[in-house]
Amino acid sequence: MGNCIYCNESAGFLRKSHQECEAKHSLGWAQMLTLATQAALGSKSTDRLDAQLREVAVESRVPEARLREAIIQGWERAVEHFLEDGKLDRAEEHQLAEYKNRFAFSQSEADRNGAYSRMVKGATLRDLLDGRLPERVVVEGHLPFNFRKTEKLIWLFPDTEYLEDRKRREFVGATHGASIRIARGFYYRVGAFRGRPIEKTETVRLARGILCVTNQHLYYSGGAKNFRIRHDKIVSIQPFEDGVTIQRDTQTAKPQTFITADGWFTYNLLMNVSYL
Ligand SMILES: [Zn+2]
Repeated sequence: MGNCIYCNESAGFLRKSHQECEAKHSLGWAQMLTLATQAALGSKSTDRLDAQLREVAVESRVPEARLREAIIQGWERAVEHFLEDGKLDRAEEHQLAEYKNRFAFSQSEADRNGAYSRMVKGATLRDLLDGRLPERVVVEGHLPFNFRKTEKLIWLFPDTEYLEDRKRREFVGATHGASIRIARGFYYRVGAFRGRPIEKTETVRLARGILCVTNQHLYYSGGAKNFRIRHDKIVSIQPFEDGVTIQRDTQTAKPQTFITADGWFTYNLLMNVSYL
């Protein structure tokens, strides 16, 4: 005979909990997440959140240790909600920062499922779309690149695969040598990238390394492959689910593919950075 993990009374033969206790617990937990999400979104004040969560937790027999979990999950949900349109406006960013500071959770807690990174990416794209230089990346350690004096680091993809096509391939939209760049503010939603994998049949994987984007160039460093490309030398960028393929403006240039794991962000970043 075991005792119910919620109320500690006898639960019956081979049972860990009462059905009723289980249902009450799930309902309470869902309610706690809703409360935390509303506070993180700013639709409710954070002042009473702690007390409210405690109240529901006691009532539904949710262990006290789960309070912090609810608070962080609420924040993660708010990030996803604000980023549904892909961009994070100034007020939304401010709101998320306030909540995060109020409940003092660390960057690694905030990023355990990547929500913190997505927030910074959303804010970086907003800066670019507004024509401002994003200054949101701090590099720990030394970068293998020599930037020019006026050059500013915008983003870094630390683990990027580099591939080249075996042969030159005609690009849709660039076959007449015309630039397909559109005015600043061009922006692709996250959904547009799902299920568009890079065609790897004709490409060769050449390196794994760091891709770095500044206001002037794209830099790559991985093994024997070290180069930089000026943004205005790129005539087309093809987005994929996990990366982008770029085509430079020379007749002989082969398409170059970077697998950054985030095609949506890489594409929007490169499309808009050259308008700074
Ligand atoms: Zn019970």
